[in-house]
Amino acid sequence: MLDPKYRKGFAVHPSTLFAIDGLLTDEERDIRKAVRQVCDKEIRPHIAEWFDTGELPARELARTLGSVGVLGMHLDGYGCAGLGAVSYGLACLELEAADSGLRSLVSVQGSLAMYAIWKYGSEEHKREWLPPMAAGERIGCFGLTEPDFGSDPGGMRTTARRDGSDWVLNGAKMWITNGSVSDVAVVWARTDDGVRGFLVPAGTPGFTAHDLKRKVSLRASVTSELVLDDVRLPADAMLPGARGLSGPLGCLNEARYGIVFGAMGAALDCLETALDYAGSREVFARPLASYQLTQEKLADMTLELGKGLLLALHLGRLKEAGAITPEQISAGKLNNVREALDIARTCRTILGASGITLEYPVIRHAVNLESVLTYEGTSEIHTLVLGKALTGLPAFH
Ligand SMILES: Cc1cc2nc3c(=O)[nH]c(=O)nc-3n(C[C@H](O)[C@H](O)[C@H](O)COP(=O)(O)OP(=O)(O)OC[C@H]3O[C@@H](n4cnc5c(N)ncnc54)[C@H](O)[C@@H]3O)c2cc1C
Repeated sequence: MLDPKYRKGFAVHPSTLFAIDGLLTDEERDIRKAVRQVCDKEIRPHIAEWFDTGELPARELARTLGSVGVLGMHLDGYGCAGLGAVSYGLACLELEAADSGLRSLVSVQGSLAMYAIWKYGSEEHKREWLPPMAAGERIGCFGLTEPDFGSDPGGMRTTARRDGSDWVLNGAKMWITNGSVSDVAVVWARTDDGVRGFLVPAGTPGFTAHDLKRKVSLRASVTSELVLDDVRLPADAMLPGARGLSGPLGCLNEARYGIVFGAMGAALDCLETALDYAGSREVFARPLASYQLTQEKLADMTLELGKGLLLALHLGRLKEAGAITPEQISAGKLNNVREALDIARTCRTILGASGITLEYPVIRHAVNLESVLTYEGTSEIHTLVLGKALTGLPAFH
């Protein structure tokens, strides 16, 4: 019989070690707790099955998430909560501790689709779309990537040409989160006047969305291809405030910021699982947690987790002060996703064979983080962003 003192054996929780909670306001702590409670009640009991079947009840989930105010929570007005960047980050952290797919749904809705409308849309766009999107009654997606252009969206082939006062869009967008369940797609297309954004409502003739099947990562997330075949839109479908690639890149910065926190949520969930498991699993007649090799893994992971959380919080405070730069967000995304993936893989080793099943969240987080490493700018692209910032020499081409 295992000594009970080894069970649930963390005298010091990884977050407690770095006294993170003391750096938060009461409101931020309350928001974090509220999001965690929703995840515990509505997501954790079902997530392994959603992942296993690759089916996500996205509409119901959007309404649930809308009812707790996390959709577009960092935007002001139009039914959005207008909360601070740290509160938004903590919500992403708790959502991603449940599953990166859920955080993706929220990121794409709030930071990509809603943000694009909020930042670049007309007053009519904002009034029409933002309140129901904040409530989760309408879902949005963001179509930038194409089959042949991911890291280099400037090469996009999707076009929007004028026909009278209308716009006619042709092309395809690939790997689009929320695509087939969306009521509106923010589509970026090449015009005579450079890259512009368009709002394409679902059901517009010529516009279709097909789900991408056989994914091994982010299975609890809808990923689609959007096809635009002579899609005719009225003149006012264009987002008036976005010109050139800086439009979509501005949205991506918002979503990347959320990932800086979110990735640490997935890592924390893995580490908690591994600590618990190592405390109760007996190998060679002693708890796994009592071996120095295991303790080294746990200590190293806790260091990276703590550093990642502190980095996220620092970037959050910079963002709240209006002082954050895209390079700083790249640094946060690059570091925290890379370390989260490393933590997930190491936790997987601690769980042994149990680590490969969906009975535990660790392998799910690990394979999800492979997508997170790639989307919103791959780790290579963020490395090149930092390389350019450090040397002044762009090495992208
Ligand atoms: C699950 C999932 C959801 C997604 N959701 C969305 C979404 O909602 N909306 C959207 O628009 N996109 C979305 N994406 C697309 C994502 O943003 C792209 O996959 C990503 O930008 C990389 O593009 P790519 O896959 O075409 O890879 P590529 O650009 O072809 O890159 C392939 C490899 O080459 C590397 N590479 C590229 N350029 C260089 C260089 N100059 N030097 C060295 N290495 C380089 C890359 O880092 C990568 O390792 C999603 C992707 C996934 C997997």
